[in-house]
Amino acid sequence: MDLSKGWVNTMLKGSSPLIFERSIEDRFAYSLPDLEVEKADISTIIDDKFVRKTKAELPEISELDLMRHYTELSNKNYGVDSGFYPLGSCTMKYNPKINEKVARMPGFALSHPLQSDKTIQGSLEIVYDMQEHLKEITGMDEITLQPAAGAQGEWTALMMIKAFHEDNGDFNRTKVIVPDSAHGTNPASAVVAGFEAVTVKSNDKGLVDIEHLKSLVGDDTAAIMLTNPNTLGLFEEDILEMRDIVHEAGGKLYYDGANLNAIMAKVRPGDMGFDAVHLNLHKTFTGPHGGGGPGSGPIGVKSELAKYLPKPIVVKNEDDSYKVEHDVPKSIGRVKPFFGNFGIFLRAYTYIRTMGPDGLKEVSEIAVLNANYMMRRLEGTFELPYKQHCKHEFVISGSRQKKMGVRTLDMAKRLLDFGYHPPTIYFPLNVEECMMIEPTETESKETLDGFVDTLIGISKEAEEDPDIVLEAPHTTVVGRLDETQAARKPVLRFQRDDIVEEK
Ligand SMILES: *Cc1c(COP(=O)(O)O)cnc(C)c1O
Repeated sequence: MDLSKGWVNTMLKGSSPLIFERSIEDRFAYSLPDLEVEKADISTIIDDKFVRKTKAELPEISELDLMRHYTELSNKNYGVDSGFYPLGSCTMKYNPKINEKVARMPGFALSHPLQSDKTIQGSLEIVYDMQEHLKEITGMDEITLQPAAGAQGEWTALMMIKAFHEDNGDFNRTKVIVPDSAHGTNPASAVVAGFEAVTVKSNDKGLVDIEHLKSLVGDDTAAIMLTNPNTLGLFEEDILEMRDIVHEAGGKLYYDGANLNAIMAKVRPGDMGFDAVHLNLHKTFTGPHGGGGPGSGPIGVKSELAKYLPKPIVVKNEDDSYKVEHDVPKSIGRVKPFFGNFGIFLRAYTYIRTMGPDGLKEVSEIAVLNANYMMRRLEGTFELPYKQHCKHEFVISGSRQKKMGVRTLDMAKRLLDFGYHPPTIYFPLNVEECMMIEPTETESKETLDGFVDTLIGISKEAEEDPDIVLEAPHTTVVGRLDETQAARKPVLRFQRDDIVEEK
């Protein structure tokens, strides 16, 4: 296999000086014309006790060196723009550049959320319109765009569900049911919202075990959180039955719609009977993420829950102008300053408008086709725990390779040598040596084939020359890191000895 190409080789071997190490006193990266007026006396503007007495310890560097510094950093980063990134459950799809253009339009980019309503009518219209589009896509009655990420959306909706039960004098509903295949944020959000998370098992088809669910629901059930398609990439077959079981017990149904990539313009959580849903604009709706930008996790709810939505809300007046309404008496309050991450709405809004309903439907179809294509090509080499067709993602198991002494972690590390971002590994927890692969609709057949061929090649190496896999990666700046120590004992400050000595 040819390792001479790809992003890893553009990364510097060895470490180059930090921007602080390049600093030369009194060098600067800007040039301004000479002042035409007298320099202001700072003490007349800022109280002396706030005035800095020593120079800020910032690097002093020329414009060209600054440029090189950031270019070098950007080359060290790996993103969707550098290569294939099949990170299951994360929907690492292409972020169309037209989105960036719209987000940078001065009317949006230079506006401020504290401006009066009258002066930000265009921005309010975007918020309002975006809510309308998301109502249409989810089948829900009302939307809030405030939450900053999927996890915060989950928590926000659970707080609204809690407010609903308490408003009905129902203080006994302390439990939220979460499948064992759920994203870790689901039980975490339930606990942060003050509930107890109760696990419902999956059956041998990878779907929620209905009999087990029946044994769990009762008058203490606040809600069930369902991910659909679930994290195994499978569409839950018994949704309507689950809806009836939970609703009859007085609980609410929450839909984790972080990955809507398989169902957009096909089916809607609202039509399936769900009471609340969150979406990740930074996944399905092409907001850059994974170090590329902030998230956005709007939620949609049925009218019964609408009065608890976070405030303020953007409403349309009779004369078609827009207003920010703060008077929402039953609201759970603010969950994020102002309206949420507005820059991400602009990107997602541009995406929805450029695709249109037919385009979004095609996205779902191609995402599902791509995932099934890869799954069927890989199933001869890797154990496929669930045989049915998948939706936007699928899981394979490295259990065969484990018998040869090579584990999924080793194969993931080896993928780095070929310039790929590895898939999600060891998640969901109910599949041994799991690899969770999500190609998205934005990749070409050639890219999918290239990745599949590489993975099959690595499995062959596991058989014939396991050491090369066990010692991978070989081409990256650093080899295998102790990830546990990195999390337990993070070193967050740069300490090159010579710098410390100079001080
Ligand atoms: C990504 C994801 C989340 C959490 O979203 P964040 O924006 O990372 O908080 C929740 N559920 C599922 C299924 C996800 O894939």
